[in-house]
Amino acid sequence: MKRTFSCGHIGKGQYCHACTAAEKSRQTEKLAREKAREKKQRAVEDDHVDLSMVTHLRAVQQQAREILRKVSAGEHPLALNGKPLRSCAGQVISVPVGRSYRLLFDAPTLRPLQLLSHEAYNHIADRRA
Ligand SMILES: [Zn+2]
Repeated sequence: MKRTFSCGHIGKGQYCHACTAAEKSRQTEKLAREKAREKKQRAVEDDHVDLSMVTHLRAVQQQAREILRKVSAGEHPLALNGKPLRSCAGQVISVPVGRSYRLLFDAPTLRPLQLLSHEAYNHIADRRA
């Protein structure tokens, strides 16, 4: 016996197979999109620096990503409030991320090196070269 389901489709059975199939393909697409996004995210992180220490600090993580993106797009770290680290003979540029973190870049190549907490950064900055 055919019947009309509440969605308006006509079919047999306890539930609408057309809607179930459509929902399933929507879920599959959604999953595929999420996977692609995660993969892209991982690629970005692999290319750059480990931001896992600020996973719990969304704003800091986003700001760090923004800085990494800008630098990889050609902006100079010095134009992003960065300054050369004297203790590293100016070979390392430190860019502030929020109030408590610093992103370090290799000055000659502008390659991102690492994200540091303010404490760890001070430790490096205070070191006598
Ligand atoms: Zn339906």
